[in-house]
Amino acid sequence: MENPYRQAQFLQSGTKLSQLPSGGVEVAFVGRSNAGKSSVLNTLTQQKGLAKTSKTPGRTQLINVFSIGNQDKHPKERLIDLPGYGYAKVPEQIKQQWQQMLHQYLEEREELKGLIIIMDIRHPLKELDEAMISWAIDSHLQVHLLLNKADKVSRNEANLTLLKIQKKYAHYQMVSCQLFSATTSFGLKELIYRVRALLSEEAEVPPS
Ligand code: GDP
Repeated sequence: MENPYRQAQFLQSGTKLSQLPSGGVEVAFVGRSNAGKSSVLNTLTQQKGLAKTSKTPGRTQLINVFSIGNQDKHPKERLIDLPGYGYAKVPEQIKQQWQQMLHQYLEEREELKGLIIIMDIRHPLKELDEAMISWAIDSHLQVHLLLNKADKVSRNEANLTLLKIQKKYAHYQMVSCQLFSATTSFGLKELIYRVRALLSEEAEVPPS
């Protein structure tokens, strides 16, 4: 299968959501620090150094924007790499501020078509993951849960965790879930398919 995300390019970094480009469509990636968000982005785009891995916890957290495909001055499709949450060392006040901003982003950002929440399969659905899922559901936003590091557990354990989470969110059509490994690329086809489906939703809306 062709992977359109191989053509992803770094577009900009910023500290505020208000600096994001307007127009077009985007899918955002979030997750607890160390869940493997950067690794997932690198595997998805098949570019080793696109997103920086092993960040120093607590350093200035940036929102990184990658454009996909045709590179003109007004890229239509974007992948958004949001700062990881759950760093123990970040002061409570900063954490609160960031959570508020994130909530607002999920609620109000029209360009946002879907959220990919990356979790370590061995520690899924932590408090902030669940908060993020609730906000997405409340905002009628599609959310795809990525159970990363599936290579760290047995296939049986991975499937049991997947089933448990699928069952928990069975009543919410906007929530989907899959197994993934950034290390082995397990689940890559499904992730490409999901991201593509989220971004192309707008294509179904007739031009005004
Ligand atoms: P981030 O903080 O969420 O961006 O996480 P990173 O991408 O920096 O990954 C954190 C650590 O987990 C690094 O040591 C990665 O090599 C490792 N890692 C990420 N994804 C996987 C995976 O799918 N399998 C395994 N075994 N390790 C992974």
